[in-house]
Amino acid sequence: MTLKMNAGALSPESIRKLNELSGENVKVCMQCATCTGMCPMAAEMEFSPRKVMHLAQFGLQSKLEDINTYWKCASCHACTVKCPRGIDIAKVMEALRQLSLRTGKNHIEPSEMSAETIAELPQIALVAGFRKLTS
Ligand code: SF4
Ligand code: SF4
Repeated sequence: MTLKMNAGALSPESIRKLNELSGENVKVCMQCATCTGMCPMAAEMEFSPRKVMHLAQFGLQSKLEDINTYWKCASCHACTVKCPRGIDIAKVMEALRQLSLRTGKNHIEPSEMSAETIAELPQIALVAGFRKLTS
């Protein structure tokens, strides 16, 4: 099931699905932005972790589609360790990746990678990347 909906549409269903997949309650976020301050990848992200949490807690799933934040997330858990509300933000990022991958779109296409790239990358990086970025 996809959560595609009109741009900007509020969706209690998308909040429920995100909470179910992540095991977290995004509604308890108090928007302190500690997660963004801790995130080593924030400068590379289109939306900061704080903004992603803000959109998620209002169920604005459509605004979370096609952004790079959860793909750039390195799952380092720095945000999770410091969140004053005890939210495991890394799990929320993983849930957002899962929601996107469940639409059937791969974030990277292994078949489009050149033989040179595959030969150069460490196998463990390839396997980890495919697990994270393909459906
Ligand atoms: S650190 Fe926690 S409470 Fe603060 S903005 Fe991030 S998710 Fe919300
Ligand atoms: S887990 Fe992801 S969002 Fe959290 S600090 Fe690390 S890279 Fe940033």
